[in-house]
Amino acid sequence: MQLITPDHPDYDRARRVRNARADRRPAAIARCASPEDVQEALAHARRHRLPVAVRGGGANVAGWGTCDGGVVFDLSTMKRVTVDPDARAAEAEPGLLWGELDAATQRHGLALPGPRNPEVGIAGHTLGGGVGDLSRQYGLTSDNVLFFDLVTADGRRVRASADEHPELFWGLRGGGGNFGVVVRFGFRLHPVSGVVAGPLVHPAEHAPSVLRTARDWLATAPDQASLVILIWTAPPLPFVPEHLHFERSVVLIPTWFGDPARADEVLGPLRYGTPMPLADAVRPMAYTAYQRLLPSPPDHTRQHVYNRGELLADLSDATIDDLLARWASGGPNLSIVLGALGGAIGRAPAGPTAYTHRDARWFAEICAQWYGEPDSPAHLRPARDGWRALQPVALGPYANLLPDPEPEWVRAVYGPAAHERLVRLKTVWDPDNVFRFNANIRPLTTRTVLPRPEEATHR
Ligand SMILES: Cc1cc2nc3c(=O)[nH]c(=O)nc-3n(C[C@H](O)[C@H](O)[C@H](O)COP(=O)(O)OP(=O)(O)OC[C@H]3O[C@@H](n4cnc5c(N)ncnc54)[C@H](O)[C@@H]3O)c2cc1C
Repeated sequence: MQLITPDHPDYDRARRVRNARADRRPAAIARCASPEDVQEALAHARRHRLPVAVRGGGANVAGWGTCDGGVVFDLSTMKRVTVDPDARAAEAEPGLLWGELDAATQRHGLALPGPRNPEVGIAGHTLGGGVGDLSRQYGLTSDNVLFFDLVTADGRRVRASADEHPELFWGLRGGGGNFGVVVRFGFRLHPVSGVVAGPLVHPAEHAPSVLRTARDWLATAPDQASLVILIWTAPPLPFVPEHLHFERSVVLIPTWFGDPARADEVLGPLRYGTPMPLADAVRPMAYTAYQRLLPSPPDHTRQHVYNRGELLADLSDATIDDLLARWASGGPNLSIVLGALGGAIGRAPAGPTAYTHRDARWFAEICAQWYGEPDSPAHLRPARDGWRALQPVALGPYANLLPDPEPEWVRAVYGPAAHERLVRLKTVWDPDNVFRFNANIRPLTTRTVLPRPEEATHR
């Protein structure tokens, strides 16, 4: 294990996570290379009563992969992956990013439902539920977990699966990093040979009718089809017509994983309906190419981000109009992402899990991105007002996109029944709340071996 303390030349780089807003200074970063390293780092942190932050890919918007004054367990070098093509299964370590896992599985024509960005970590994404374009067909990422190997708060190594510790297995599929450090995942894979996908670009004035068309299309679309919608001020990406660079626009990115011969028929209403897109780059492509369609900005490590995801049962006309009005008045740094849910997600293919709002048809992500002042009220306010306005129609927030970790929002992520069950589970597996930098489930016990909150600050 490599220990990086503030006097180490690599400290400043090693303490950073993806969101520049989470600018924290841990006492040490323990770069763990094995489960034994994790056990050793945990024993050390507990002995010295230091807070523990666990980092997989470090992509979480709340910056839970770091902390002030504690020990960060940096798992980024744990990247072993093995694929068994006959069993359609993979075993993967928690430091892998999605691009790395996809590359390994796609060599065998297989894939696991994952996010739309190759730089997201597999660990945090899976533990929080995990939605992606394959989810309408094969369920959430967490629906496809066969087992978790984890180091628990008391330093033991246990496996959670349908047969071993089934209640823990239920909680780990959506309950986040509350119950231990996952050192290995077992995944079920699916055949994915390619995809017909690509951006359809519209000017801002098309937005009200484009969103209604997209909503109506999704209501009857087959499960092999999915959609993400970007409502933004467009960066100068190759697929955006030049006159729309830095202008407000709406981009639909549909995917079709079925027979390519049917792509035109299935995606036709979005491509050829009214209004017609200004640019249409839908084409057959490799799944790994699709996952790279939306690259991160080159300077994203300096970017402050505040985004929150809400799960919606439906997109009514009133919700569409309200979202668009907020976008119009929110300034160029405010964007909205709408993602298709439904299909297999609603059918819980592997049985019930801690991920709760399976009847949601859409997620709505309200997102502010800016440079300069980390807590800029001018950028935070429109985003916060945006998700608050969605509360009357939202089923709950999404654990993986929760920048405001207040207890009421964590309860809303799970709903009262699942939350109560998670509290019981947390009390059994982590009664001292060692793993607290997450959508935190508070244990019932009051006993604590950790510093008081003012000593373990976490913005
Ligand atoms: C560009 C971008 C695109 C995204 N796209 C999608 C998307 O399409 N769909 C979607 O559902 N989400 C998406 N997300 C959200 C993403 O799923 C979350 O940010 C997720 O938490 C990232 O996981 P990570 O391992 O990179 O994060 P980290 O910040 O490393 O960790 C997140 C949480 O998981 C815990 N954790 C990490 N590793 C472990 C471990 N091994 N054991 C126990 N706990 C652990 C951490 O302590 C923390 O609480 C996206 C995020 C970004 C930045």
